[in-house]
This record gives sequence, structure tokens and C-alpha cells, in this order.
Amino acid sequence: MAHVMVKICMDPRYRPGGKYEKPLEHFLISIGAEGAYQVSEAGASLQYAKLACEPALLDRLKTARDAGVKRYILIDHLTCKAFPLHFPGLKPEDEKKKHLETLGKARQWHELHAPDISFEMYLQDDEDPYHFERIS
Ligand SMILES: [Zn+2]
Repeated sequence: MAHVMVKICMDPRYRPGGKYEKPLEHFLISIGAEGAYQVSEAGASLQYAKLACEPALLDRLKTARDAGVKRYILIDHLTCKAFPLHFPGLKPEDEKKKHLETLGKARQWHELHAPDISFEMYLQDDEDPYHFERIS
């Protein structure tokens, strides 16, 4: 499954033994993305809302192309600590709306820079981390 790249948050809950480890593994298997390349960055889609991240995003895209990636999966999660750090004053009840905004930016970015690579986005719940909502 080396033609798939998955981008998640760098949240330690994804690490071995963490709350999100098994749910992510289970989910990736369910969508046929087990064994994908995996990258982790603060806030996942948050990178697309930061102009300073543009060179890193382009570099990551080149790496994906060089590796033959044909499918790019971006996963955000709720209760992400990176979001209130980047958006001071963000209330927990407004977090989902903010993720939808940054995921929307990610979608636009991929349509512009990588129309040749299929792109999927999901928002992982925190109360039920086995629930991944597909975002279009
Ligand atoms: Zn996070």
C-alpha cells in the first residue's frame, strides 16, 4: 500500500499505546490504507492555514510524487491542542467549525497543486475516536 500517504496530527495520542493508536489503525484498514506512508504535523490541516508552511507543503508533495503516491489522506481530530494555540480564544464548541475551514483550505490547495493525486479528508472524533467523519 505504498501508493498512499496519510497525514495526521503530531498529537502524542497517536503514538503506540495512545488513545488514538488502535482507532487509526482500524480506520486505515477499513479504507484500504493500511501500510501507508505516514506523516505527522501539528494540527494536520492547520498547515494549510499558515502561509509560512507553503514551502514545506510543496516539499512534502514532491516527496509524495517521488514515492509514487496516488492517494493522499488528511486526518484532523477534535480536541486538537494545536488549534487553540494558532487561533487564540478559540472555544471548544467552535473547534469543529475551524477544522472545516482549514480542511476546506487543504482541499483548495490540493486541487491547485496536486490534481493528479486523489485527496480525502476526515475528522476524527475524540469522545469516540473510532468515528472518522468524511469531509468533502
Ligand atoms: Zn492535534
